[in-house]
Amino acid sequence: MGQFINFCAGAGKDTLPILTEPDGAHVNALLLNVFSNFKTERERKKTNELIGDSKAKYFMLDSGGFQLKVAMSEGKKILMDKNQPLEPDHDVINITPEHVVGAAIYVDPQPHILVALDSPVKDIHNFDKNLDIKGQMEREFRSHVGLNVSWGAETARLVKAAKEQGKLSKDLRLLLPVQAYSIEQFSRYIKYLKSEGDIIFDGFSMPLRNLREISFIEIAQFIIEFYKMGVKNFHALGEANFKSISFLAYLSKRPFFDWISADAQTWRQEAEKLKYIYHYNLQSQFIHMDTEISDDIINECPCPWCDGKTFTYIQNLPSLEKTEFLRCHNYFVVKHFAEEIIEKKCNKQLRFPFWEE
Ligand SMILES: [Zn+2]
Repeated sequence: MGQFINFCAGAGKDTLPILTEPDGAHVNALLLNVFSNFKTERERKKTNELIGDSKAKYFMLDSGGFQLKVAMSEGKKILMDKNQPLEPDHDVINITPEHVVGAAIYVDPQPHILVALDSPVKDIHNFDKNLDIKGQMEREFRSHVGLNVSWGAETARLVKAAKEQGKLSKDLRLLLPVQAYSIEQFSRYIKYLKSEGDIIFDGFSMPLRNLREISFIEIAQFIIEFYKMGVKNFHALGEANFKSISFLAYLSKRPFFDWISADAQTWRQEAEKLKYIYHYNLQSQFIHMDTEISDDIINECPCPWCDGKTFTYIQNLPSLEKTEFLRCHNYFVVKHFAEEIIEKKCNKQLRFPFWEE
């Protein structure tokens, strides 16, 4: 039986949720990425401070492949030069496995989990629905798989060397990102990876947005493949919805994996839109000044910020205070939801949201 860890992603020094854990930590687990948190010396120092301030028990470093994808979509020039900085100028971005492993060596404390550099495939929901979806999935997979194999293999080689030289902890777990839409594509990725020689890694990370439905069955199909390969560590990137969290939390209590984790920025993104995440089902609703909420609706949220507060109270908070309140509340409920599933106290999850939009 393993463990399920919910990572707080997208936090900054000023937005870190105030979660008074028993040990005084803001969050239990913190996810940062090389491209957003290590560009300049100043940012690197701030990142070390952020990790220290968070008092997180677990720290995970993602490579920054997603930021690379965003930069490409903005038409920025991409360099792959290990001797140049991450952002040589405003219109150029530069990342290599050396940058990723270098950040893991630099940061203090070092990460427990490192995600190898990857070249993310397009979000499945961004394909042209009028064209053949399977054909688009295949072209997209093929245009990224070469880089994903060589970057994954190179990151693994650098991590192995850094561990041997005592620059990285032997306990650091390296995850390879799965950038495939189907099991068949994943199998091809593994075949190509094997052609790179003996690559040592500890598990996979996978952006669930690459799945069509993000259903239990789709996730389970990949999980079974990982299990058959003897993989014991799995991280689901960037999703915090009812289905994925329920399934992953449940799975962590079965005797298949040592480590299952997930991360999302939903807590912060929804708070910035003034959206309140409902603790029973993780759906969110606006809580604007003009949202109509009947006085009969009781706030049953178990979080320490909602304790004794009505929805009218939350609704009437000044805007900045409300965002801060919602960041804390939203973060708590996602974390609490997973804990409830694990403790099997999940009899209320299917309730529907409670006010009309
Ligand atoms: Zn609350």
